[in-house]
Amino acid sequence: MASEFELIRRHFTLPTRNTRLGVGDDAALLVPRPGMELVVTSDMLVSGTHFFADTDPVDLGWKTLAVNVSDIAAMGAEPRWAFLAIALPAADEAWIAGLAKGFAECAERFSIDLAGGDTTRGPLTLSVTLIGEVAAGRAVRRDGAKPGEDLWVTGTPGQATLGLAHLRGELALPADTAAICVAALHRPQPRVEAGLALNGIATAMLDVSDGLLGDLGHILERSGVGAEVELDCLPHALTGECAIAGDRMQDTTLRGGDDYELLFTAPTSQRGVITRLSGDLGLPFTRIGVISNDARVITLIDSQGTRTRTSALGYDHFRA
Ligand code: ADP
Ligand code: MG
Repeated sequence: MASEFELIRRHFTLPTRNTRLGVGDDAALLVPRPGMELVVTSDMLVSGTHFFADTDPVDLGWKTLAVNVSDIAAMGAEPRWAFLAIALPAADEAWIAGLAKGFAECAERFSIDLAGGDTTRGPLTLSVTLIGEVAAGRAVRRDGAKPGEDLWVTGTPGQATLGLAHLRGELALPADTAAICVAALHRPQPRVEAGLALNGIATAMLDVSDGLLGDLGHILERSGVGAEVELDCLPHALTGECAIAGDRMQDTTLRGGDDYELLFTAPTSQRGVITRLSGDLGLPFTRIGVISNDARVITLIDSQGTRTRTSALGYDHFRA
């Protein structure tokens, strides 16, 4: 069995680009670029709570980093340095190699340096701290939404939930659609390029990890505004032949978690710019509603124009 130091050397010493001194010393030396602020986020994943112990370690490695990358993307910032702390019940080297592989793939995809971490024995837990950079004063926060602005979302939220339902046998999807939805669940693609492009355009932004309505509530709370959501405008993950019952689809789009799309607000004058961006990035950006004066109230508007009010904090009342 390899020693702790040998495991770190073999699996967690990845090539670095932006780091003066990375894995192997007492601490890392990072060199931020002049004029930039640091953006820092941390996420902990506990076996049995956030993932199953039998999850493919390569997927787990990817997702462990990707969920943090999504938080940096949602600030309109660029991810740069990651720190990975692992508690492991036993040194199962094949498992560690798989985890490191998925983590390295995600790090490579987003040009992130693994600059350090910690490896210890204990109940299976993974913790990532990710540091990004953004031009000083330019981070996109949750508190900038103003009445009259548009509400937008990237991609098709709900895919990960459909992927999970498919894996559980609760839903039969055609093979190609199933593959897309399962990939959304296991290999989420954080919207870094979109987040960076929206810096200077979006007035408030976050990533949708807990479901569109619930996360919208956070913007409303922080910005002291409300929102009107046009149900007919929602971008659904399944359409045409794959479509599932309207209510279930709508519920999945509004409440499905684990998607990591961006939800943001922008002035109406930016519609043309945002539509062009969507084309450039090859990623749907959908205008799903407007910001209102009605503090913390989400109003859902259906195709008949019927309006249903709900409190952003009380969105749980909608659960079936
Ligand atoms: P110390 O005992 O001085 O805290 P460690 O033995 O914990 O140092 O770590 C040695 C080096 O390996 C450090 O640079 C640390 O950041 C790095 N490291 C430890 N575990 C990991 C890991 N899982 N991923 C990346 N780097 C790690
Ligand atoms: Mg030391």
